[in-house]
Amino acid sequence: MITYVLGENGAFLCDMGTNALLHLHMAMDQDILRLRTQLNEIEAELHRRDEEDNPPDPEPEEDDPYPDDDDDRSMFADPGGTSALRAASKSNPRNLPCPTCGLSNMLTPKDRDLGYQCDRCSDAIEWGMDPY
Ligand SMILES: [Zn+2]
Repeated sequence: MITYVLGENGAFLCDMGTNALLHLHMAMDQDILRLRTQLNEIEAELHRRDEEDNPPDPEPEEDDPYPDDDDDRSMFADPGGTSALRAASKSNPRNLPCPTCGLSNMLTPKDRDLGYQCDRCSDAIEWGMDPY
């Protein structure tokens, strides 16, 4: 009676009557199969460890496109606005004409020192319009 025997070193075809090894080739195939299986297991294990060591990157922190700037805009005539003109005060009265359009009482001395012009003129330049 020929029997398929799975042993420590592979699979064999044996004649149980004589206990003779009939086919070694099968054992070799089994060894290769087993090695392949072990290889797959090792690869799977390595892959698993790799994932443990290198967990997927957490969500990257979104870049804040508007980082808090500590600019205190209260010093400007229009805090929170686009005007760069300085706020008028007793020591800084808005009593000077705009150097561009000549309208009086448009600028403070600080504005003039900084080379500013009135809002209307700077807006006109920004929008590419003729201020006159
Ligand atoms: Zn002006």
